[in-house]
Amino acid sequence: MKLLVLLVFQEYLIVPVTVLKFVGYHPKTEEINFSKEAIFERDNNYCQYWHYDEYNHKFLYKCTPSERTLDHVLPKSQGGKNSFKNCVCSCRHCNINIKKGRTPEEAGLKLIRKPFVPKRNKKDYVRHKFAYNENKLSHRFYAKHILKAEKVS
Ligand SMILES: [Zn+2]
Repeated sequence: MKLLVLLVFQEYLIVPVTVLKFVGYHPKTEEINFSKEAIFERDNNYCQYWHYDEYNHKFLYKCTPSERTLDHVLPKSQGGKNSFKNCVCSCRHCNINIKKGRTPEEAGLKLIRKPFVPKRNKKDYVRHKFAYNENKLSHRFYAKHILKAEKVS
């Protein structure tokens, strides 16, 4: 359903032009409350420290439920807080045998990514208008698969 805007040039030439404005929707997000389970879910049970094989190639290690622990990146003893930005899922081996209440730098461990506050989509959306550009793949995709009904002239 593409709306065409017709422009008249020199009295006889009529050129179809693509839509100037679309209405788009972005899902509203909200922050998730801090909990141990939310950390494990954010990190998908992967130990957040790189593991190395016998050839010194790094790999991700997925913890079994009994192996996973909540690790404070900056240890509580050094003022580290119970927060999403300071807590990660860590396997028992990295946390208890290697890190032992030290910072990753002190223990020679490397985080696979910076811890962040996870968000979830609310069932609500933010409505916005934007100019349609046919040259942009993202706009074409959006128009074809997401925007089915609403168009603005
Ligand atoms: Zn580990």
